[in-house]
Amino acid sequence: MLRLRFHGRGGQGAKVASRVLGTAAFFEGYYAQDFPLYGAERRGAPIAAFTRISREPILERGVIAEPDIVIVMDETLLDDPMAHPLSGLRESGIVFINTTHNPVEAKTRYKVTAQIITLDITKIGLDMLGKPVLSALAGGVASRIAGLKGDTLKKAVEKEVSEITTEREIILKNMEASLYCFNAIQLMEIKITEAAYKGSPIFTMPFEAAVISSPTINTTTNTTMRKTGNWRVFKPVWDYDICTKCMTCFVRCPDGCIAINEDGFPYTDYDNCKGCMICAEECPVKAIERVREVHAW
Ligand code: SF4
Ligand code: SF4
Repeated sequence: MLRLRFHGRGGQGAKVASRVLGTAAFFEGYYAQDFPLYGAERRGAPIAAFTRISREPILERGVIAEPDIVIVMDETLLDDPMAHPLSGLRESGIVFINTTHNPVEAKTRYKVTAQIITLDITKIGLDMLGKPVLSALAGGVASRIAGLKGDTLKKAVEKEVSEITTEREIILKNMEASLYCFNAIQLMEIKITEAAYKGSPIFTMPFEAAVISSPTINTTTNTTMRKTGNWRVFKPVWDYDICTKCMTCFVRCPDGCIAINEDGFPYTDYDNCKGCMICAEECPVKAIERVREVHAW
């Protein structure tokens, strides 16, 4: 059995990527199983999704603690103490990282002992789809690493994206982008080991006393310790020569990140701005530019 784990941010498409892979495997005659694990239902929050592929009926259930393949759709998750993307990855396994860096750099930076593949699928998504939605692309990468065929991948993307949109052009673009990523990945040998299933050590959730686990607030705030702006694809940059100080962006920011400076112009808290770009969409005079960010180290 081949066990894959996807790690992404809410909104990036990790769940659909795991479905694309599962469906492609199913079309090739394998037994397949795919499912997501959400934490907070919030755009940008870390999520994981899982796919099992086997020639035999799959009786194993639950999250995959020891994957053969890990697909990291957002590089910042590797620095996120809540995500643990490399947890349990077999030394004989493969990790894919969506990054602008090459495999040697990434292997050193993240202390990866398994085989590593890198590709900037965010750039491919932006170039081919116009947005950083990576479900079909990550599904293409995973299908290649899992040794599936391009034709079945295309059929799987068509099926899965058709369940999200009826716009044929978007479906076709996703099929094309998925196949592009599939072909960009060099095949590597995976040494699968049939280790016994060991439960779910991704997150240990100890049973806590009601005084702690109840919704009552018993301690002072810790949100200042949790910067939620570390995974942006775009950051908003204001042009004060164009801004009319109408305050639309200030009102519309869903995270309340925008404040007003002493000259009356809006600015954002980049530590917590998640890069949704609603401010730029809503600005009536287009005074906010979207600037691509990559994970610099
Ligand atoms: S991109 Fe704009 S709207 Fe979105 S979180 Fe950042 S400041 Fe707020
Ligand atoms: S919405 Fe645009 S014009 Fe209005 S305050 Fe924001 S940046 Fe300035």
